[in-house]
Amino acid sequence: MMSRCPRCDNTTFEFEINEPLLSNYKMNVFQCASCKAAIGAMEYYDAGSLIKEQEARFDQLDQSVSQLAYRVLALTSAVEALAKKLP
Ligand SMILES: [Zn+2]
Repeated sequence: MMSRCPRCDNTTFEFEINEPLLSNYKMNVFQCASCKAAIGAMEYYDAGSLIKEQEARFDQLDQSVSQLAYRVLALTSAVEALAKKLP
């Protein structure tokens, strides 16, 4: 049994990217390929993929912060050593 458009009985469908008015996000509108009646909508951005991207960026940021903390510690030690040599 094939899915049918509730408006025109067509059996083929398509996605169309749409940015609804007053919305900050694009949507994938699932619609009838013939009469364009909207059947449903899905988020344009895949939340799972976005979370994975953010996870990778967070890991890079975490490494950078660790390296920065190490360098600050080394600089602090160097400044303290220099301060002890001052008259
Ligand atoms: Zn239709």
